[in-house]
Amino acid sequence: MSDKKNKPADVVANIVSLAKRRGFVFQSSEIYGGLNGCWDYGPLGVELLRNIKEEWWKSMTYREDVEGIDAAILMHPRVWEASGHVENFTDPMIDCKVCKARFRLDVLGDSISDKKKDKALNDLRFEIKDNSSLIEKLENKIANPGDEDPFNLILEDNDLGKLLLSKLNCPQCGNLNSFTDARKFNLMFKTFIGPVEDSSAVVYLRPETAQGIFVNFLNVQSSARQKLPFGIAQIGKAFRNEINTKNFLFRTREFEQMEMQFFVNPKNDKQWYDYWKAERLQWYKSLGMNPNKLRYHDHPANKLAHYAKEATDIEYEFPFGWGEIEGIHNRTDFDLSRHEEYSGKSLKYFDDETKEKYIPYIIETSAGASRGFMAFLIDAYYEEEVNGEIRSVLKFHPKLAPIKAAIFPLVNKDGMPEIAREIEKDLRRNFKVFYDDKGAIGRRYRRQDEAGTPFCITIDTQTLEDRTVTVRERDSMQQERVSIDQLSKYLNDKIIM
Ligand code: ATP
Repeated sequence: MSDKKNKPADVVANIVSLAKRRGFVFQSSEIYGGLNGCWDYGPLGVELLRNIKEEWWKSMTYREDVEGIDAAILMHPRVWEASGHVENFTDPMIDCKVCKARFRLDVLGDSISDKKKDKALNDLRFEIKDNSSLIEKLENKIANPGDEDPFNLILEDNDLGKLLLSKLNCPQCGNLNSFTDARKFNLMFKTFIGPVEDSSAVVYLRPETAQGIFVNFLNVQSSARQKLPFGIAQIGKAFRNEINTKNFLFRTREFEQMEMQFFVNPKNDKQWYDYWKAERLQWYKSLGMNPNKLRYHDHPANKLAHYAKEATDIEYEFPFGWGEIEGIHNRTDFDLSRHEEYSGKSLKYFDDETKEKYIPYIIETSAGASRGFMAFLIDAYYEEEVNGEIRSVLKFHPKLAPIKAAIFPLVNKDGMPEIAREIEKDLRRNFKVFYDDKGAIGRRYRRQDEAGTPFCITIDTQTLEDRTVTVRERDSMQQERVSIDQLSKYLNDKIIM
């Protein structure tokens, strides 16, 4: 891709506005004031999202060792007991007693200025000055926060958290010492199956797609006649009743995941973990994401989830900071062992070659399609000065671009519209294209730049003589003449690259 310019600080606001204006993303139920944490994908957005999912699907399942599935969103409630979600899928929540605003305790510090944090910590020091063990604990957390914010660590501490809370003002209404005690809030959405709304009918909207894969491990293995190592991939909706949604599509209550669980002999777990870690980062790069804005964040051993032996996040540098877009985990035999225990059905694999019988280890790659969408959108967005004017352009990789080519008759006469319609009809068989005959040609280019269309095809007077057209490439804005009968092949070659 061509050289990319620095992004302005208010880039998210510009992108949210462009996303709405051009039909990428709308607020859910907007005419009713919107529904927090839910978004709708418009005509351009749905194409981009589908293209991201399609590229993921191709790269993950067009290989002999990965199969696809599409499991139900509603699952047997025991699944979520076995997985640990009923017990552990919680965030600590506090409310302001005055303004009723609700916050996640573990990230409250992110909404408080450094100056106010320092003051609260000093007030806390003063209050506990005679308790040497509390003072020691406090200073130890400040001195050794790992890669966490020490303030949030102290807030989460059983002894210090409540005391520190009492020194804080509510970020919303400004009242001092107005918070309730922290309580655990389960993020799963509950509903009822069947007509009777009692506790025996409770089911959950899945908070991740992975469990549909674990419980189908042997079904897929035997029906597809797979041998270990092999994987199962799935794309689908997931739901989390997040306490605070924020940053556009980054943290929403309904979102889509693209997950793959790779089942391996425990002896080979490290090799496959490293393999998938490298593959997945490369996937983002291969679709044009700026490599300088991608990094791994390896989880230190003391921060690993209870099921994980090794874990890393692939992070993207959003305008508001680095954020996870995908997690890679060595989940060991935790999931299959738990499902074996809770279902009473054996989930062991018999290895024909070594004659061993064992529960496989699982290497998981768990990507957010919606969060990835946001990263691809932000990464592609540029404001550039061209001939004294600012052009907004989305430099999507051609594979991801919602519209692959736009077709413009230079003027609406002299037979140009007829040829343009002929080209449109031909290209539409294989590509999403757009026909535009309204306004000056420069304006038409700008409209397509904003939509991220990589190629604009113009039918002009020379076309009438030699049946060639100009093709203008979005990023370089260079034009070349291409014969009409070569157009389809030209686009195909450029898009596949
Ligand atoms: P976070 O710490 O950001 O809440 P997580 O560690 O809980 O994320 P996972 O459970 O590993 O996330 O989910 C895998 C992927 O699903 C994440 O990398 C992210 O892309 C996506 N994801 C998770 N929660 C959300 C959400 N609320 N909104 C949008 N995408 C999400």
